[in-house]
Amino acid sequence: MGMRGRLSNVTATRQLPPDELVITDEALVIYARMRELERECGRCGCSGEESCSHWERWWAQNKRLAAMLGLFFWEFAYVDPRWEWPRTRPGEVERFHALEAAAAQAKRSKRFKYKWQK
Ligand SMILES: [Zn+2]
Repeated sequence: MGMRGRLSNVTATRQLPPDELVITDEALVIYARMRELERECGRCGCSGEESCSHWERWWAQNKRLAAMLGLFFWEFAYVDPRWEWPRTRPGEVERFHALEAAAAQAKRSKRFKYKWQK
């Protein structure tokens, strides 16, 4: 996961509290795609320090998701605490948990389907 270092000097000027997050179905589709890219990258053998195509695509999706969540495009829409990034901000982890909760709720409601689930 090399992007953190490249972007670590960027400071966010606004943060929405997670309870004000509006997570749409479209945002959840993007989130699911990002999680899938993370899993794919976990199998691709890259060191995480070099940019790989998974993370380029991840970052492109992150920009879209960040915009939907009312963030600037250069902000991380979420940070999974399991990545153990040293400079993770609390809001990033809170958004991760909010997205996880929304994704789980959508799954339970059965009204939501990922685009690739036929
Ligand atoms: Zn990779």
